[in-house]
Amino acid sequence: MAVDSVLSSPLGPPACEKDAKALQFIEEMTRNADAVQQRVLDEILTRNSQTEYLKRFKLDGVSDRETFKSRIPVVTYEDLQPEIQRIANGDRSPILSAHPISEFLTSSGTSAGERKLMPTIKEELDRRQLLYSLLMPVMNLYVPGLDKGKGLYFLFIKSETKTPGGLLARPVLTSYYKSEHFKSRPHDPYNVYTSPNEAILCADSFQSMYTQMLCGLYEREQVLRLGAVFASGLVRAIRFLQLHWPQLAHDIRTGNLNPQITNLSLCERMGKIMRPNPELADFVAGECCKENWEGIITRIWPKTKYLDVIVTGAMAQYIPTLDYYSGGLPKACTMYAASECYFGLNLNPMCKPSEVSYTIMPNMGYFEFLPHDSTTTNSSPTNLVDLVDVEVGKEYELVITTYAGLYRYRVGDILRVTGFHNSAPQFHFVRRKNVLLSIDADKTDEAELQKAVENASKLLREFNTSVVEYTSYADTKTIPGHYVIYWELLMKDLKNSPSDEVLNKCCLAMEESLNTVYRQGRVACNSIGPLEIRVVKNGTFEELMDYAISRGASINQYKVPRCVNFAPILELLDSRVMSSHFSPSLPQWTPERRR
Ligand code: AMP
Repeated sequence: MAVDSVLSSPLGPPACEKDAKALQFIEEMTRNADAVQQRVLDEILTRNSQTEYLKRFKLDGVSDRETFKSRIPVVTYEDLQPEIQRIANGDRSPILSAHPISEFLTSSGTSAGERKLMPTIKEELDRRQLLYSLLMPVMNLYVPGLDKGKGLYFLFIKSETKTPGGLLARPVLTSYYKSEHFKSRPHDPYNVYTSPNEAILCADSFQSMYTQMLCGLYEREQVLRLGAVFASGLVRAIRFLQLHWPQLAHDIRTGNLNPQITNLSLCERMGKIMRPNPELADFVAGECCKENWEGIITRIWPKTKYLDVIVTGAMAQYIPTLDYYSGGLPKACTMYAASECYFGLNLNPMCKPSEVSYTIMPNMGYFEFLPHDSTTTNSSPTNLVDLVDVEVGKEYELVITTYAGLYRYRVGDILRVTGFHNSAPQFHFVRRKNVLLSIDADKTDEAELQKAVENASKLLREFNTSVVEYTSYADTKTIPGHYVIYWELLMKDLKNSPSDEVLNKCCLAMEESLNTVYRQGRVACNSIGPLEIRVVKNGTFEELMDYAISRGASINQYKVPRCVNFAPILELLDSRVMSSHFSPSLPQWTPERRR
């Protein structure tokens, strides 16, 4: 029931008083976007005026935009690495931030093969919490009755390490789920999860997923929405059900928990949930044993109104799979965030994935926009535009200044302006710069792929064989998805050509060369399948060029695409495959950094 008109919002009638306040807050922030941005910049620069970094650029406590922009350079992670390394090594002096760095957030973006370390401060948790608190009030505008049931969300923590100076380094969501903000959240009827905290906080990914699925099955009649952070996570959960339903059904039938669940607090909590329910077990087994899994989500969770997963950016590749499993349920992309800073939310979350736009909340940090010209690879960092001055239809790279001490930092995301809500712009997420391949959180760029091919092809030298051309493809038709690398080989000595075994080892050598996020996905999260090399016939890449030229590419400027997605090109490549090879084992991965 909507609350009375005194509390009404231009976004729509709020579902309750708490929602009215949240919607009011969104209105205030977006109406006064420029003033809020000025205040945020002033706060950041004033409180950090005595930091080594700002003093180096002689900001002298000045906090107006012009001085800030003229003195502080636009930087990338690599530029900040010396400062970040000193903080990681234990230097507690105010280098970037006047407030103590509370921990490092490990981004899925990498630098030299390792996760980037993003410094953060305690109060940033409050800012993230604030953005989270706006999501359900917006969703309630579009989907009534979410207080009448629960959400089945597959949420996970990942491993954490300590830097040499003793600071924790872990992903932002691990930090959030382990915080009191999450663990001791007050009961909110609009935001009740089927997964107990003990399941979400269990570091073993199998035990965590198993118990979250089990709880979701027990409460199948209450589930109104299903979610994971990214689409890949939800697809993986369905695959998990496909593999483990006999044991899950057995547990439900007997009321006894699978002995593979050994985490003590989790066992204790599950003990309070488990009960024998042969009828439910029959139902689950009856649905899951069918050959056809089309619409399985709505068959098992019949009251599901929408899927809450990010399907923008690289995750768009999972839309057909999710549609298949859910019978085309709406897919809500609710927010846009990164380890560096949480940016904003989708004010129309039930829209089609292709229409998703995120409204940046001006209170989260200070935002600038570097005009992006897709014809040149690197736009020069001059003439950055303020939040309220971006133009509809244009593309920009996001540059942020945060409370935690990043100043004019290039995030690497390319965004296109689609419109405004009040004076706050709304952005379509176009892509992340330089990402060639991505299955889950992994992001592999062209240089990393090139290095991996070079390292693997060393194994071919003794066979007088070399890789003359290659391209790649993120294959998400398998679950989990995997990297496919097409190789055209030049074999100079046909009597001594590389064996299957050698080519399999090449797959592993490539995986060993890829970055830590990729290898973690392979080893710890099981979110990426074994890398595959498909050897194509000689002349295939020439045919590829002919095809591109027939479609208008210039012969002089033609470059082999290092990643392909276009169906006719994939068909051409696949029709020329002579042999295919998979990584025979897992690559090396430990939570510790290699350097
Ligand atoms: P991380 O640094 O690991 O926290 O990853 C943050 C990055 O994930 C962002 O910079 C984006 O590239 C991507 N990302 C986050 N939210 C979204 C979204 N809603 N749609 C598309 N990409 C996103």
